[in-house]
Amino acid sequence: MANLNFGDDARGISLSTRSEDNMSRPLPVRCAVASCDEPATYKIAAAWSDGQFSELKTYGLCCHAHLGTVFRAAAARRLASAAGSAESQDEIGIYRFEPGKRDRQLQRLWGLEENYRA
Ligand SMILES: [Zn+2]
Repeated sequence: MANLNFGDDARGISLSTRSEDNMSRPLPVRCAVASCDEPATYKIAAAWSDGQFSELKTYGLCCHAHLGTVFRAAAARRLASAAGSAESQDEIGIYRFEPGKRDRQLQRLWGLEENYRA
């Protein structure tokens, strides 16, 4: 039975073939902190929606050691860019970054966010 029922998620499927080709050999992504050589394991992003379609707007990718730094910087940028914008955008969230996975497949780490919210 190869027929999967994607239901409401079917909207994003038509794009998947191309992006999976591009990501068949993902390069390691580095932490956003320039002096850091660690691979990124977290993605700082805000869910964005136009009412029909939603995606993640990425603010930064980082390692565990710089999670607090990058998260707070992203939150500050988010506040600055949200002023004067009518776009609907959720709060900044922390996601587990896994190369080759699409945004909608990433796991949001609510417990970690609580540690870094002011
Ligand atoms: Zn780092």
